[in-house]
Amino acid sequence: NQTMPANFIENIINEDLKTGKYVGRVHTRFPPEPNGYLHIGHAKSICLNFGLALKYGGLCNLRFDDTNPSKEDTEYVDSIQEDVKWLGFSWDDRMFYASDYFEQLYEYAVQLIKSGKAYVCDLSAEQIREYRGTLTEPGKESPYRNRGVEENLDLFERMRAGEFPDGSRVLRAKIDMASPNLNMRDPVLYRIMRASHHRTGDKWLIYPMYDYAHPVSDSIEGVTHSICTLEFEDHRPLYDWALEALGIYQCRQIEFARLNLTNTIMSKRYLRQLVEEGYVSSWDDPRMPTISGLRRRGYTPEAIRDFCDRIGVAKSNSTVDIALLEHCIREDLNTKASRVMAVLRPLKVVIVNYPEDRVEELIAENNPENPDMGSRAMPFSREIYIEQEDFNENPPKKYFRLTPGGEVRLKHAYIIKCEQVVKDEKTGEVLEVHCTYDPATKSGSGTSNRKVKGTIHWVSAAHAVKAEARLYDYLMISGDRTEEEAGETDDFKSRLNPDSLHTLSCFVEPSLKIAKPGSRYQFLRHGYFCMDIVDSTNEIPVFNRIVSLKDSWTK
Ligand code: ATP
Ligand code: MG
Ligand code: MG
Repeated sequence: NQTMPANFIENIINEDLKTGKYVGRVHTRFPPEPNGYLHIGHAKSICLNFGLALKYGGLCNLRFDDTNPSKEDTEYVDSIQEDVKWLGFSWDDRMFYASDYFEQLYEYAVQLIKSGKAYVCDLSAEQIREYRGTLTEPGKESPYRNRGVEENLDLFERMRAGEFPDGSRVLRAKIDMASPNLNMRDPVLYRIMRASHHRTGDKWLIYPMYDYAHPVSDSIEGVTHSICTLEFEDHRPLYDWALEALGIYQCRQIEFARLNLTNTIMSKRYLRQLVEEGYVSSWDDPRMPTISGLRRRGYTPEAIRDFCDRIGVAKSNSTVDIALLEHCIREDLNTKASRVMAVLRPLKVVIVNYPEDRVEELIAENNPENPDMGSRAMPFSREIYIEQEDFNENPPKKYFRLTPGGEVRLKHAYIIKCEQVVKDEKTGEVLEVHCTYDPATKSGSGTSNRKVKGTIHWVSAAHAVKAEARLYDYLMISGDRTEEEAGETDDFKSRLNPDSLHTLSCFVEPSLKIAKPGSRYQFLRHGYFCMDIVDSTNEIPVFNRIVSLKDSWTK
């Protein structure tokens, strides 16, 4: 977005371009681990990385960071590609896998051993942790630290060949056990793990650690600016160390604040639990903050990109109000979505002075904000449905809808007057309302300038389409702790909103008979809805409420 002020990352890039550090190139990457579906936080990273490439005429790779086979799967690889494309970005022929580099990573590790910069360590994971020390206490050197190069080469080769059990040995970088940065205290580069990899199968018994695989993968791809989230700031010295020790292309790691959203849990780890334990129906449940969930809910790529633009990038963590995301989709749909009438909680109204066999075609504009969208015909007849809440026998003050003896305008139709209320004799429940209409008050006819205070929506009972409406509330009740705090220290499931889905059997106007799954509408007065792409059937279309009309975003 050319009109936005440059963010701190752009300032760094501008400076690098000025000093000629990267010979005028900008090359970024988006590096998801295929261990779950992408979420709105990933969208921020996607918009940033692909956006920078677009802005600077550079390139952005899609790279699967698939170095930890235990949780990875091709299902996730496929969904990630679909989601990035849907957001509107393309990687052309630049889709890579860190696993493509396993052989090269191994060769580089051998090189580190040969130059005395890595060694095989036989300490257990627990011992390694103990030896590492703490922030206030220096680490202790491993007794295996000064193994000779030949012995290290031999052991590393045999680790690869499968001679040792899982966890019995690791390859470590030889850096500095007294470093104030714990990440520099001889970090593990390789571990033995007998796990089948979704691409390399059982070929490998040793796998590289993220802190080693990531800088090397960036370097192999010629990435200039490797953008990651803040928690990797302390890992940057190791990132730089690896590239320098190997003497290969030096990329620049830049950290930015990850996105946190109110009422939202975002880590894949937690999202997976919600799916696996049945708290939601799937990764694309419309309540999920996944890109596939937002898509199914009815969010547009434009709204998500706009949201990512508006939140910008910063160097310190904060939590964004989810009301901003909702504001963005309202703004996008305001001029795009047809207004239609849907009655979510129906109450039958009989217009007693309207001829029984007459059906009138009324003209309804599709979008007052966008006249280009034209108009449609709405059938009107003697029996209609209105919302239960649009009729009140004992109205409070300032209630301008239908009341006994009162009048209201039916949108695009006539003024009606309530003449009689039909109730269940036993329960007192209102079954029907009988009204009369004033033929001179037809909308747009100009034959009467009579005005009433309230206008309500309706559908013709004989013509309406039966549908299911799903109204959502936030999946998480709000808390004042961040996701990290709440998630790590207590059971995040205690913050799950038990009331996040309401399903209603409703009636929508007949023009929606030809609605296509995935299409979006504004149901007048109710909000924006999207026809569900999974559960809609020919008999019963399902409509997900994307967002209500009430905008609570304040700057
Ligand atoms: P999670 O904790 O949700 O599993 P992750 O960082 O482990 O996230 P990756 O697949 O490794 O997930 O992420 C790919 C890229 O997306 C990384 O560069 C990461 O920094 C970025 N990313 C992940 N979550 C967010 C977020 N909430 N805000 C911004 N960027 C994010
Ligand atoms: Mg990660
Ligand atoms: Mg993760």
